[in-house]
Formats: sequence, C-alpha cells, structure tokens
Amino acid sequence: MKLYKPFLYLRLLVVSALLLQCTSANQRLSQTNATENAYYSIEDFANVVKYDTHVHLNVDDTAFVTQARADNFRLLTVNVNPAYYPPIEEQRSIAMKLVDAYPNQLAYATTFSLDNWDSDEWQQKALNYLKESFDKGAIAVKVWKNVGMELKDKNGKFVMIDNPKFDPIIDYLAKKHIPLIGHLGEPKNAWMPLNQMTIKSNQNYFSKHPEYHMYLHPEYPSYEDQISARDRILQKHPDLIFVGAHLGSLEWSIEELAKRLDRFPNMAVDMAARLSALQYQAATNWQGVRDFFIKYQDRLIYATDLEAAGNINAPELQKRIHDSWLRDWNFFVSDLSMHSSSFDEAFKGLKLPKSVVNKIYRNNAEKWFKGINKHR
Ligand SMILES: [Zn+2]
Repeated sequence: MKLYKPFLYLRLLVVSALLLQCTSANQRLSQTNATENAYYSIEDFANVVKYDTHVHLNVDDTAFVTQARADNFRLLTVNVNPAYYPPIEEQRSIAMKLVDAYPNQLAYATTFSLDNWDSDEWQQKALNYLKESFDKGAIAVKVWKNVGMELKDKNGKFVMIDNPKFDPIIDYLAKKHIPLIGHLGEPKNAWMPLNQMTIKSNQNYFSKHPEYHMYLHPEYPSYEDQISARDRILQKHPDLIFVGAHLGSLEWSIEELAKRLDRFPNMAVDMAARLSALQYQAATNWQGVRDFFIKYQDRLIYATDLEAAGNINAPELQKRIHDSWLRDWNFFVSDLSMHSSSFDEAFKGLKLPKSVVNKIYRNNAEKWFKGINKHR
C-alpha cells in the first residue's frame, strides 16, 4: 500500500515518539533497579558468597562446615594455643583433614608454640613449625594474647609482642607475604570491674576467665602497654600484612581504630566476637559507625570466633551458628531496629551499600588472606 507522504511523516513521528517514551521508561526502570540493587535484603543471605575468617574447628566433625555450606560461608579456621584447647599439632591435623575434605569451603591459619621461650632453640623451632605448616597448606599465622598477658621470661618479665626474639619470625612472614593475625591485648573492658563493663558478653567471659580479667591483675601490663607494643611492631615491620583480631583490641572506639588504620596501611581488622562493641556505639552514634564502615570498607573483615569443640550436638551447633550469622547479616544490610543480648539499648541496622557488604564479607577476605581461595 502506498502511503501519502504526510501520513508517512506522521507515522514516523508517532513511532519515534513511542520509541522515545520507551527509552525513558527503560531508563526509569533501570534507575529503579539500580536503587533497589544498591542494597541487599535479608532474603539475599544465602545467595551471597561470604567468608567468616575467624572460627575454631577443634574437632574432627563436619557439622560446622555443612552449615557453612548451606549458608554460603567459606571459613578460615584458626589454630591458637590457649591451655584449654587441644595441642597445636592436634589442631593442625584436624584443620588439614577438614581442608582436605572441603577444599572449597575451608582454609586454615597455623600458630607456633611458646614453650621453652628462654631456650636458644625456641626461635628456630618456631620457624620450623611454621614452615612445615605452610608446606601443609596453612595460609596465615595467629599470635595470641598469651604474648603480653601470660608468658614471662626467665627473669619474670612479661614477654610483649615487640620482643626482638619475634623479629625473625615477623620478617619471614613479611618477606613471604603471609598474614599475621594478632590477638594482642584484650577488650578495654578487661581492665574494668565486672559491673562496669559495657558489654555483657565481656562480663560473661571475664567472670569465667579471671586469669585474663586484667582489673584483677594491676601488676600486669596495662591496656595501653598492649596496644603500644602492637603498634611498635607495625611501625618496625611496615611490610607485614597484619590482621588485628577482634577489631585490633580497639573495639571500644571507632575513632581510635581509625587512627591505627590511617597510620598502618598494611593493617586490617577482623570483627570476631566484637561486632556487639560496634553495635553498642551504633546505639548512640549510628551515623558515625556507618560512616566508619564506608570509609574503611577495604580494611574490615567479617568474622565471628564461633567454634566447634568438645562433644558436638550437630543440630544445636548448626542452629547457633546459623542464627548468629543471620543476625549479623541483618545488621549490615537492613535498617531495622535491633537488640543485642550484650547491652540494653536498641540500635539500628547499618543498611550498607551492596558494594561495601561484598567487601566486608568477601573481597577483603580474599585480598588480605591471599591463598584463602587457592583451591577454587
Ligand atoms: Zn578466636
């Protein structure tokens, strides 16, 4: 059919108007999607790949890893040497066995013994144990608060982390780009009487562990001594990749933590067992805590300190870890009003952008713990 020219123009005009409309509708649609996609929902929990980089799997049992798989979590199980844990060699064999069975799900961090500290052979033995562990797949090293709070030399002096005897070990790790996870010092509450502690889980822990309740041990190094010894090793070994466990023992103040993160570019922190300290700050300074997460989004690593030990009751353990992972997820992705069993005040979820949530749950773990996903 032959169209008269005026009709043809009219038709073209209509078609282009329609096209224009469609384009702007599409733009509007993609804008809406972009806003909606900027945040995760509570329901996204199981769909997002996440890491928990501070757990302790101290029994040869698969209940924990199975739950991690269901919740889309990959794990870093951390060997450490408190008196009430299995010997470190046993922890290492359990870790190796589990990593072998679940190479896509799990990596492990080794540690070293402080036995015979005063002996001339201590240093070489510790280094040998570490090298052997790296050959056996360990991807990081943990140093614990017994340095600074327990170990004394032959003269009865507390051994701090900046003791020069640690230097060859730290230099070795720095040279090999192997991260050191440092749990040095304790939450500041440890220096307070039980009834003045701000966080109930701290009260609970220190009432069970009076040996680490520093308020009861005024002759021990102070909180400031612990923090400055740690700061001095970061100053002395600027190439060391250092992950401060438990928010680097600066859990009580985002400002103090920010100062260290500014000063030491090779320092990141894990949140293990200290998220409640940030929630406590969010109760009175929500904006400040949220801004802190945005500003230091490349330095904060999600972790819990959950553990599998003793006789496992699988359903009970799995419920406990699932519930706490989900609770934490809600704090990061939603802006719901929430409560913690650790203190009375209500606080609001941070509703962090997706990109920040991806970093704290995944990208930072992969960046700071190179090798955490080497099997994948
Ligand atoms: Zn731990």
